[in-house]
Amino acid sequence: MTSERRLDRRQFGHRARLVLSSAEIRLIDDQAHAARTMWNCLHAWWTMLSKDKRTLAAADAAIRQARKEIDWLGVLPAQAAQAVLKTYFQAWKNRWEGRAQEPNFKARFRSVMSVDIPQGRDLQITRVHRRWGMVNIPKVGRVRFRWTRDLPVGKKAETDNRITGARLVKDALGWHIAFRITTRESPPAFHQGPEVGIDAGVNIPLALSDGNHQDHGRPPRLPDGTSDRDKWLNPDEKVKLLRLERWAARLKQHREPGQRSSNRLRAVYDQIGKLRAKAKRRATDWQHRTTTEIARRYGVIVVEHLDIANMTKSARGTIEEPGKNVKQKAGLNRSISQEAWGRTVTMLAYKAARFGGTLHKVPAPGTSQRCSACGFFTPGSRESQAVFVCKNPGCGWSGNADWSAARNVLHLYRMGLALVPAAGRAVVRRSPGVKPAAAR
Ligand SMILES: [Zn+2]
Repeated sequence: MTSERRLDRRQFGHRARLVLSSAEIRLIDDQAHAARTMWNCLHAWWTMLSKDKRTLAAADAAIRQARKEIDWLGVLPAQAAQAVLKTYFQAWKNRWEGRAQEPNFKARFRSVMSVDIPQGRDLQITRVHRRWGMVNIPKVGRVRFRWTRDLPVGKKAETDNRITGARLVKDALGWHIAFRITTRESPPAFHQGPEVGIDAGVNIPLALSDGNHQDHGRPPRLPDGTSDRDKWLNPDEKVKLLRLERWAARLKQHREPGQRSSNRLRAVYDQIGKLRAKAKRRATDWQHRTTTEIARRYGVIVVEHLDIANMTKSARGTIEEPGKNVKQKAGLNRSISQEAWGRTVTMLAYKAARFGGTLHKVPAPGTSQRCSACGFFTPGSRESQAVFVCKNPGCGWSGNADWSAARNVLHLYRMGLALVPAAGRAVVRRSPGVKPAAAR
């Protein structure tokens, strides 16, 4: 027996905003456009080939040839081009293994602009100030980024803790760099913490079965009962967003069919995008802080299993119903809150693993109708959205409806109803395009 401890490889990302001149922005934009075009060329070529000729080696040869023959593909560094190929091939593998849908062409305005820097040694990161770092971007040069976290660079880099690559990503707030940090750590000790059931609340974003509700202090509902998709914006930002949306609608009216959007309209869209990006950043920031706290405190975390395929279907169904604006909006809002819940569960899954805990999913139809005190089921026991009143004559419990649902989620787990998402053995029947449960 050796006393050597087993080390687990862990990868995580750190995102920082880049400070760029307009010339540098143009250079990276060009690289991203070239990367997208390369993806599209690759996809056109691949789908034309007969199935037996579709190999990674053939695709690699085709890319090398294309870079020689097409001038402007040369703006993309060779390593980034290789990364496009790797991502494309992985997309097919995900399809073949039933995790995702077939890769498709990337549209100019709808796809996220990104460029890979797959090798960490190309980055040559240095810290120049308490708040600033410098990083090398191939074919662009050295640029500044906000230093908000201690990165393992220079003397602090070790084989077991270093930056192994990065990706440039553009959103409405500009170009960012996402560093990929690879560490090797000893696996966490078994988490001795208590069990908890969590429900995505109606009035509280996260209701915990022990009453520790996680709120972000932003009203989740509008007077008409739908959730507020802009709750992460402050009142003055909401006013600004409304004004911009009205303005965009007005500009759109003056556009002839088939005509391109005017520069002014596109500028308004940009501003709307910036506000939405700000809201999303605040939302994910809150989710990260909350899920870390939960994973740190609890050993067993139980959540409701979400049938994503079903839900997108229902959301789409309401949108297809013509003439009912309120329903459309409700469907849209629902799909947004579901997206947020899905992200919360993903975060809980990997954070629980990191702290030595486990995440379990339970099938949870009717958790909002069951009394968590006596187990009595009555449709309509929910007096209002916020208060649950039990209709069982012998019980009559009433209390916070979200808390009751969270206790029911935990109850289902204790009854042994957790779904078992074991590796390779799909318990839940799923349609293609739906990721298997990420929990362990
Ligand atoms: Zn009851």
